[in-house]
Amino acid sequence: MASFNGGNNGNGSNGNGNGNKSGANRAALRVIPLGGLHEIGKNTCVFEYGDDIMLVDAGLAFPSDGMHGVNVVMPDTSYLKENQKRIRGMIVTHGHEDHIGGISHHLKNFNIPVIYGPRLALAMLTGKMEEAGVTDRTVLQTVAPRDVVKVGQHFSVEFIRNTHSMADSYSLAITTPVGTIIFTGDFKFDHTPVDGEHFDMARLAHHGEQGVLCLFSDSTNAEIPGFCPPERSVFPHLDRHIAQAEGRVIITTFASSIHRVSMILELALKNGRKVGLLGRSMLNVIAKARELGYMRAPDDLFVPIKQIRDLPDRETLLLMTGSQGEPLAALSRISRGEHPQVQVKSSDTIIFSASPIPGNTISVVNTIDRLMMLGAKVIYGKGEGIHVSGHGFQEDQKLMLALTKPKYFVPVHGEHRMLVCHSKTAQSMGVPADNILIIDNGDVVELTADSIKKGDPVKAGIELLDASRNGIVDARVLKERQQLAEDGVITLLAVISTDGVMAAPPRVNLRGVVTTADARKLSLWAEREITWVLENRWNQLSRNTGGKTPDVDWVGVQREVELGLQRRLRRELQVEPLIICLVQPAPAGTPAYKGRADAEPDNRPAPRNGRREAPRQQHAAGAPAPVVRAAAAATPATGSTSASTPAPAASKARAVEPEPELAGRTRRRRSAAAAG
Ligand SMILES: [Zn+2]
Ligand SMILES: [Zn+2]
Repeated sequence: MASFNGGNNGNGSNGNGNGNKSGANRAALRVIPLGGLHEIGKNTCVFEYGDDIMLVDAGLAFPSDGMHGVNVVMPDTSYLKENQKRIRGMIVTHGHEDHIGGISHHLKNFNIPVIYGPRLALAMLTGKMEEAGVTDRTVLQTVAPRDVVKVGQHFSVEFIRNTHSMADSYSLAITTPVGTIIFTGDFKFDHTPVDGEHFDMARLAHHGEQGVLCLFSDSTNAEIPGFCPPERSVFPHLDRHIAQAEGRVIITTFASSIHRVSMILELALKNGRKVGLLGRSMLNVIAKARELGYMRAPDDLFVPIKQIRDLPDRETLLLMTGSQGEPLAALSRISRGEHPQVQVKSSDTIIFSASPIPGNTISVVNTIDRLMMLGAKVIYGKGEGIHVSGHGFQEDQKLMLALTKPKYFVPVHGEHRMLVCHSKTAQSMGVPADNILIIDNGDVVELTADSIKKGDPVKAGIELLDASRNGIVDARVLKERQQLAEDGVITLLAVISTDGVMAAPPRVNLRGVVTTADARKLSLWAEREITWVLENRWNQLSRNTGGKTPDVDWVGVQREVELGLQRRLRRELQVEPLIICLVQPAPAGTPAYKGRADAEPDNRPAPRNGRREAPRQQHAAGAPAPVVRAAAAATPATGSTSASTPAPAASKARAVEPEPELAGRTRRRRSAAAAG
């Protein structure tokens, strides 16, 4: 280890005096989290010095309630795509999804020359990379405790064994030209670890003695006083509940909580129960962990789920996914009576050996309610001693600070209030407030041997992936899904002639829209919006190019009508459904439809303001028109139901020859003209 703290660190008296004149940030270490701050999830951190970029972890997060049809949330990695030539390698701290779940996705976009990490994490990563077909995009290198690896010219990383809810987990000591960084990864101080692998506190203390420039520390439980209880402490409580159970025992926990699952298997053996496993991740993780020796259990402890029904209930333990109320997980399906193999019995004891991640609380309590209503005994909650966190509390965090004695401190892995709380803890330990930075995703921490500051931020944000994990759900798609889910959709079919007259009454269809307005009123409003657009916007939306018919920006017409109707519905009914206007162009000279004589006077306010015009101007300037709209226009509207006005008379309908593709073609022509 002597060489490890040799030359690099010794000259740290003034990092600016090294002759590098090419700008301040050349001589500074830049640390850029792209995810994991102001949130729990998608931890992704960039270390940058000179020409070298090193990544630490790349995780995913799960969608929140309003993200309809989104399966996975990823950090925006534009910064890495732009700088991919400089990526020298990646370090993985442990195998949780919020640390490795993004890697196989990123490898589709850029190569990572080498990934160093623990055996268990890399084994789990291998499976994901095979699934994604990216095994040729990187090289995986397994590390052991106290291994030191060199990444690029400027980084040496020492892997320091730590304790966490996942087995085979590490903190990092990263030696850089400006000093040593301790990056804790996820940790708690567990002095009686289930697998006997102790936290290598001696190495932390060693680096503390040598001098730590900056500590980046896990803030998850910064708000909770005291020490986090050891993982072993749940053992007697689980044991008691399992021993007392009259019928089957059903336990749910995170599949990735290797230590918890190990203890549950041990308890099944002790209590004479065979184990049936449900849920893909539970089966996968246990198979992998047993194969690599992180979990010891005899083969005959496990019984396939189809055969376990032949055993007496008192000799049965079912271990399954669903501790977060995930709708498709085994326990959730069982609670809804939708599982093909397992139905709840009133003699069942069901144990939630996990606590809900914030955001999942409602689905978890709903699952508990349903299970109770089916008659089962359900054991859950803090008072039962059946779950402890894998992340240290305030005293664990203090111990980390005490051992590493950092000059500068950056709280990471947590929501904003946790970061603030953790920074107060650090101050109480003597770190000056000026030496602490609270940062957000995309912020740049610039460190020299004697300074810490925020540099100009880089692009950060989120990328939402749908079920295929290939399609990106962008902000517009998400907004449309939210409108669909919350207020439904209105389609509006307008027949407009190329000389700008409404040739038939508009047809309005509602799906999922709750409204007090009747069908007649809605189509009347639609009629007024169309009339308004024709009277006030037609000149801007059509051009006489000398041909037989004027060139009409049909997409612009649609957009204008949609915006007008949207505004009116918001004003009159306080609803915001998705509105899709389809225009059926009719030939010039088609007789005008005169509108309704029986209509009450329109009380619409003054003409629209300039902001309303923005989309049309964008379009005219050659910006890509919304594809959705063009495609929709190509689909003939189906006549139907609730709110449609009477269809135009047959003769009139024939007079307006439908040209469903015209809108699309016109748009392309106009775009080409704009480009030329
Ligand atoms: Zn973790
Ligand atoms: Zn984590």
